[in-house]
Amino acid sequence: MPLFTFRHSLLLLLCAVLVGCEGAPPSDQVFQGKTMGTVWRVTASGLSPEQAKQLPRLIQQRLDADDQELSTWKKDSWLTRFNQNPSLEPQPISDNVATIISSALYVGRMTEGAMDITVGPLVNLWGFGPRAIPTHTPSVSQISAARDKVGLQHLTLSDTVSGNTLRKDIPDLYVDLSTVGEGFAADHLARLMEEQGVRNYLVSVGGALISRGQHQQGQPWRVAVQKPTDKFNQAQVIVDLQGHGISTSGDYRNYYELEGKRISHIIDPSTGQPIEHHLVSATVIATTALEADAWDTGLMVLGTEKAKALANKLHLAVYLITKQGDNFVGWASPTFKTFLVNDPEK
Ligand code: FAD
Repeated sequence: MPLFTFRHSLLLLLCAVLVGCEGAPPSDQVFQGKTMGTVWRVTASGLSPEQAKQLPRLIQQRLDADDQELSTWKKDSWLTRFNQNPSLEPQPISDNVATIISSALYVGRMTEGAMDITVGPLVNLWGFGPRAIPTHTPSVSQISAARDKVGLQHLTLSDTVSGNTLRKDIPDLYVDLSTVGEGFAADHLARLMEEQGVRNYLVSVGGALISRGQHQQGQPWRVAVQKPTDKFNQAQVIVDLQGHGISTSGDYRNYYELEGKRISHIIDPSTGQPIEHHLVSATVIATTALEADAWDTGLMVLGTEKAKALANKLHLAVYLITKQGDNFVGWASPTFKTFLVNDPEK
């Protein structure tokens, strides 16, 4: 039996993984709510009374629409219907879905399948999707049967004259956008801010965040990467986002214990097993929160050494925290260092 699970503490994760929003001065206006099994938060400055009145409703509406399209938890979402549809014919998709799938497939290819949005059957088998946590460790044959339904080669995104389409080549392919949905939604909120004429904001959905402009005191938005402990709001490093998106993936909050083993919510698609190595968190800064959110999970699967090599090769802005004995050791890629406010090495 599982001893405990941190799954529902995701509601607390927002300002824990990325705590910059806690530092907002009182003159900034803060709105927050719930979506996608986690929390959203928008801090904005320079709002007119009318903007301040309208924003919470508009934000929630946009997030509800994203949830209704991208959720695997909702029985009537677009994604659930796509997953349940056995048709192997190309299915028309919205621009939102095309954007998110295109980004996920790119990172999937670059990580050689470590980040794989078809990993859903394994995620569900291990109890991190809508299905309950298992009472026993899944058997080799269960894992093997789930792995047979996983693989990016089974999913084709096409751009046709009549619009984007998505096609699967096995009937029970199950797409799980959990790892990228929050980043996409954060970017979507940023677009909403722009549409509403808001020029200074910091938005977050779960552990994905993006900002623009400055806060009320004329200072850039700064965000702290949380130390990987059970205590919240302890900064490991602080970054100035410079209008970029940032996302952290870690396995120190979202796990449970089963038959004496710690079970991480991040699954290695090549083995079908939850990751077990010593990389405890990966933070990525990218042009969009969606890109950052896609990379962080892929790097977590790869582990410290491969993640470092890929970050260096592709000039990604990456911060890794690795457990060495009783200590946590941070590593910043050269590109990440350009965002650091406090470089612990200096
Ligand atoms: P991340 O590291 O960003 O992603 C890890 C998650 O990605 C895992 O939990 C798993 O789902 C998946 N994953 C694991 N391994 C891989 C891999 N190798 N490649 C790709 N993906 C992988 N949660 C609820 O409890 N209730 C809800 O109603 C709910 N609704 C949601 C609706 C939407 C539209 C989305 C996008 C998510 C929803 N969630 C819900 C999930 C939840 O909010 C988080 O997105 C999820 O738990 C993981 O987010 P994270 O940032 O903690 O982890």
